[in-house]
Amino acid sequence: MKIDLHVHTSEVSFCGHMSSAEIAEAYVEKGYDLIVITNHFNTYTADRLENEKGVSDFFRYYNDMYLLAKKEGEARGLKVLNGYEIRFDNSDNDYLIYGMSDGTAARYRELFRMSPKDFSALANEEGFLFYQAHPFRNGMRIINPAYLFGIEVKNGNPRHDSRNDIAAAWAEKYGMHAIAGSDCHQPEDAGGTGVTTERQIKTERELLSMLRDDDYSIL
Ligand SMILES: [Zn+2]
Ligand SMILES: [Zn+2]
Repeated sequence: MKIDLHVHTSEVSFCGHMSSAEIAEAYVEKGYDLIVITNHFNTYTADRLENEKGVSDFFRYYNDMYLLAKKEGEARGLKVLNGYEIRFDNSDNDYLIYGMSDGTAARYRELFRMSPKDFSALANEEGFLFYQAHPFRNGMRIINPAYLFGIEVKNGNPRHDSRNDIAAAWAEKYGMHAIAGSDCHQPEDAGGTGVTTERQIKTERELLSMLRDDDYSIL
């Protein structure tokens, strides 16, 4: 199976230029079987949606837009699962999350105020996975490897230098789980990179187990 673990849709991400339908179409065309929607999950996005677009609850809207992407994907034979790209209020770092429960995500304002250290403890307690996205891109700061399940060692966004070679060396040095994703925001990004696995992933539980077991190769 070909999987992209890092995809944005324009319904939630202000920097995204592809709707759920366009994303689904592009990924079918690129031969992908599964994509994980990881829209921006931070104060900036929540504030803009709530203040400018009249969204009353950011989490509810975020989840509805995931369900829309899932519907658009499934209508074309593409599996779609949900994730998050969180940014905490005190830094510009981005982190990818897989397997966080709806109940926890619904407490978004509280999550945005957390430190990576405290969020990491929450992830361990609740059993979801916490990776730093593109940790060596300009403006990012690497954090204590002990707080992370892993890092994104291959980010496909062509408008940024994510220094993927350094990220891969860092993951190796600290024995961290390593993932890859396109960080798709616009048509030329679709299917830029991802992972491939022999497993048949249909559910979030199966995705988490694949990630925990490192049972995939980076494309
Ligand atoms: Zn973005
Ligand atoms: Zn992203």
